[in-house]
Amino acid sequence: MAKRFDVLTIFPGIFGAVFGAGVIGRAAERGLVEVHAHDLRDFTHDRHRQVDDSPFGGGAGMVLKPEPIFEAVEQVRRSNPGPLILMEPWGERLTQELAAELAASPGLVIVCGRYEGVDDRVRVGLDAREVSIGDYVLSGAEIPAMVLIDAVARLVPGVVGDPGSLDQDSFTAEFGGFPQFTRPAEYRGMKVPEVLLSGDHRRIREWRRAAARRRAPI
Ligand code: SAH
Repeated sequence: MAKRFDVLTIFPGIFGAVFGAGVIGRAAERGLVEVHAHDLRDFTHDRHRQVDDSPFGGGAGMVLKPEPIFEAVEQVRRSNPGPLILMEPWGERLTQELAAELAASPGLVIVCGRYEGVDDRVRVGLDAREVSIGDYVLSGAEIPAMVLIDAVARLVPGVVGDPGSLDQDSFTAEFGGFPQFTRPAEYRGMKVPEVLLSGDHRRIREWRRAAARRRAPI
């Protein structure tokens, strides 16, 4: 069964552009993953399709209202039993280890914050796990959600065509981030290290280990 990612967002249109192409796009065509972006405005009941309101207690900006998010999660839950993730800058940091942990679940439901954030009853009432992609503030969670989906989806068996690529990923391999070269063997006077042209796999591995920018597994 395909691994399902359901994203709740006020900008559903931008997900197709990213996940319609490349490794994840091919995986979707092959039925290995599904990325569904849901418009939070479809879960409003007023004429203006309002998803946000001003914060209680005052202060700048707007806050995403709880009702459309609760209703959207309840609908999506019928086809996706995976954990609920709320992207937030103060959340648990996304690492390769967390991506692997999430890849073991049947799917993910991801809530994208915007403006000044999300009404905190979403976190409490829907038992959401808060995840951050790093210590900086972006204007919305759509890019963080894409980062999370990409990191998790490529760990789904079969998504990355050559499983050898996963083994040499920087954060799973014994060492990673070694310099890579392709043709031509000499460009503007810069030569590809001789050893890489040698075909001697033991020496190549030794060279790569020594040149790796990251030495230990994480
Ligand atoms: N006022 C908030 C920032 C809101 S940014 C604060 O002080 O932190 C708007 C939304 O973008 C957030 O609710 C969150 O969903 C998303 N976002 C911003 N930076 C993020 C990050 N580093 N990781 C994950 N989500 C992030």
